[in-house]
Amino acid sequence: MKLKTLEISGFKSFADRTKIEFMPGITGVVGPNGSGKSNIIEAIRWVMGEQSAKGLRGDKMSDVIFGGTSQRAPLNRAEVSITFDNTDRYLNSDYSEIRITRALYRNGDSKYQINGTTVRLKDIHELFMDSGLGRESFSIISQGRVESIFSAKPEERRSIIEDVAGVYKYKQNKDKAEKELTGVQDNLNRVQDILYELE
Ligand code: ATP
Repeated sequence: MKLKTLEISGFKSFADRTKIEFMPGITGVVGPNGSGKSNIIEAIRWVMGEQSAKGLRGDKMSDVIFGGTSQRAPLNRAEVSITFDNTDRYLNSDYSEIRITRALYRNGDSKYQINGTTVRLKDIHELFMDSGLGRESFSIISQGRVESIFSAKPEERRSIIEDVAGVYKYKQNKDKAEKELTGVQDNLNRVQDILYELE
């Protein structure tokens, strides 16, 4: 699986539509301080479902929308699209090319799409689940993250290892099954109460 393109429009400092094409090999982004290098990485995290405004250096999610400059009025919408080459089927999808789009409007409306079809955030998370990508993954290491892993509590470090080992999905399924089991047990208890009253 390869990252092919990133299209950014109205996101943070990228007021105009900007398309970045990733060539084979390593890509380096260079530029003066404050020119928007980190905003590119944040656009990638955002389109892949990041939900924390703080994780994107903002107070609220609408802070990612281009907020204007002395020469340019603020915009009403941020939109980012990312395209992966999935010919090796690394991501669990029948598509050999996967394009994910996320848009956010100032009034709070938002949408996610996979290959042009509107989907839920959950579908985006499921697409990346156990792929080593997605939120909280280690494919993107931001400044300060290395230090935070070193100083993490053992339980926090354990969840990192579980995530890398790919057991997260199974833990989620187990939690869901346990909740269902509790519901069934409650129903059984209720039936037994009714039977008792009838006897
Ligand atoms: P450094 O090398 O210092 O880490 P950088 O190239 O990574 O810098 P970024 O942190 O990506 O730069 O970009 C910061 C710039 O983005 C600032 O000029 C800031 O004003 C601008 N910016 C952030 N959010 C918005 C927004 N919502 N609207 C307009 N500009 C924004």
